[in-house]
Amino acid sequence: MSTLTRRAFVAGSALTAGALTLPRNAFASAPQAQAQGPGVYRYKLGAFELTALYDGTWYLPIDGKFIRNASGTRVNKALAQAFLPPNVLPITITALMVNTGSKLVLIDTGSAGQITDTAGFMNANLALAGVKPADIDTILISHFHPDHIDGIKTKDDDKVFPNAEIFVPEPEWTFWMDDGNQARATGSVLKYFRNARRIFRDIAKEVHRFKPGAELLPGIVSLPAYGHTPGHTAFALHSGKESMLVMSDTVRNPYLFARHPDWQPIFDMDGPRAVKARRAMLDRAAADRMLVEAYHFPFPACGHIVKAGTGYELVPSMWRPL
Ligand SMILES: [Zn+2]
Repeated sequence: MSTLTRRAFVAGSALTAGALTLPRNAFASAPQAQAQGPGVYRYKLGAFELTALYDGTWYLPIDGKFIRNASGTRVNKALAQAFLPPNVLPITITALMVNTGSKLVLIDTGSAGQITDTAGFMNANLALAGVKPADIDTILISHFHPDHIDGIKTKDDDKVFPNAEIFVPEPEWTFWMDDGNQARATGSVLKYFRNARRIFRDIAKEVHRFKPGAELLPGIVSLPAYGHTPGHTAFALHSGKESMLVMSDTVRNPYLFARHPDWQPIFDMDGPRAVKARRAMLDRAAADRMLVEAYHFPFPACGHIVKAGTGYELVPSMWRPL
């Protein structure tokens, strides 16, 4: 042991010995953070840079009627198998930002705190990612449920993304903006009609409507995935040799709906049609070993799909340096 290290060792020992005699309150406890860390995760797809932006989680109480074709007991068993408590569905919300190299594109917009207190953090996470709302060039909307479109406006109806061109599926617009359809709606569906009008009514002229199947930007193709809503749309991203499926709400919580693709939650307006879209998309993702992303998957909401038993399993992406 050199003189220097011995001296340091002795000094250290003395300090330790001395410290033991200090009153306990001389050790300041570290303050607890009392908040979650940044909900931002970046990954690459060819030349695209993707950013998962966590908006929060909506803890939805559910009862035995939540799945039209599965009992509450079966649903609670599926929740327990995922180490989740019974009678509550955690609906994680993650928007996806795509930097194509020339455009900054946001796919769906978060809930803007207009659904539940435990969601509405997307814009805070956007800021932590170093992006201002005014930087967003393009917004692509999958469908008109509030957790996907509410981020377009504040509670006071101000536009959040002043420079963004908004693209929505044509059949979705046609359905929700039809007065006859609204007149026949009740309950939460009626609320969705009113909300869609609140968001889009005064900006209707600025909203571009696209036919699902169309390429919206170079490397971003829309895919019809009807059933969840009449115009519900997914997206495929292609850059270089890489491709990814942005499944939107075709598959939501994977422990329920990837493992049990035939389950028809009351959220799916046309249950059998949604099942068909879900099975087709899961099948394609598994067969082609494609990277997938889904708005309600656990953060960072991306991974791969493998066949497992009568259903499918999500293999989440591992956090990695960019
Ligand atoms: Zn949703």
